[in-house]
Amino acid sequence: MTDQEIERLVSLVVDALLRQAPNVRPDGHSRDASWLPIPVRPEPPARSTEPPVWSGAAQRLDDVAPGLPAGDSRTGASPAPGSSPIRRASTGELTNAVRAAAAGRAPAPDVAPVGRVRHRGTSRLRSLEIDVAVGVSNRHVHLSPDHTRTLFGMDQPTALRAISQPGQFAANETVAVTGPRGTLDAVRVVGPARGETQLEISLSDALRLGITPPIAASGSLAGSIGGVTLQGKTGSVVLSRGVIVAARHLHLGSDDAARWGLADGDRLDVRVGEGSRATTYHDVLVRAGKQYATELHLDADEAFAAGVKSGDRARIVAAKPRAPSRPVLITERDVIRIAREGGRLPPRALLTPSARDRARALGLEP
Ligand SMILES: [Zn+2]
Repeated sequence: MTDQEIERLVSLVVDALLRQAPNVRPDGHSRDASWLPIPVRPEPPARSTEPPVWSGAAQRLDDVAPGLPAGDSRTGASPAPGSSPIRRASTGELTNAVRAAAAGRAPAPDVAPVGRVRHRGTSRLRSLEIDVAVGVSNRHVHLSPDHTRTLFGMDQPTALRAISQPGQFAANETVAVTGPRGTLDAVRVVGPARGETQLEISLSDALRLGITPPIAASGSLAGSIGGVTLQGKTGSVVLSRGVIVAARHLHLGSDDAARWGLADGDRLDVRVGEGSRATTYHDVLVRAGKQYATELHLDADEAFAAGVKSGDRARIVAAKPRAPSRPVLITERDVIRIAREGGRLPPRALLTPSARDRARALGLEP
């Protein structure tokens, strides 16, 4: 075969093969050199603004987790018309709310107006809002039966008018009180006669008399002083003790005490007066008992300072319960001292064994 004949044969074979293969373009240039069948693939979707339904990436969270009413939580703006009626709290908002709740700073739950307990330091202070009447105690004296006889020649003072505390009265009788520096005329006697004479004055009165009595609860005369003379119609007495500046206090009937959850010995914060002289008195002692009528007792100085008079209203704003009393430990040395001073063992005293023996020997057994 000549070269020309070979060329011709090759051309015939190629033409025959090309006629059998469907994926080869008619111009003879093979698009794919493979002899294998070419797989059929789907057409890509037409381009559009909406992703295809199967993509899953563009579901709105509102659709699966409806949230708070619509509106912008940061600005408080109401939702734009036509926008989604529901709003899902952002992750940041949810995180902040959870953290605040965990730290105890979540919005406070509703609380009753009376009896909220808050802590100030180590003491429990309870907030209150209770209105009570004010009674201003002017200077006065309670007399023992002996002193009544000496000063007025009778067993009991005579009643002028009833005062707010049941059973007590302002008497017709008055005394003149003389101290180192001056005299208080016409100090009212309050009856009936009681165990021990007690003169209750204000600090201004004390200044006029020239004495410095302690501020004490009525009836607590252990630290009281004397040094004044009482002059009555039929005689005079020199007091060796019994002069106090009465500590401000709230007389509290048993019913009110139970209703308000207060007890004898509690200490109160009481707001007194209105306007520029309004003030809050702290450490107001509660004297609770069924013999009392509920009334706040201030002395003349305190009433002037707050600009109030008898019959005005005051508001209890906080209460601190009395600290539970602990028994006092008494040693043998304490017993000897108490016996020497002619005193008595305190109630609820806890005695050491030697103190108990000594107390027994000295006739001081509680
Ligand atoms: Zn009183």
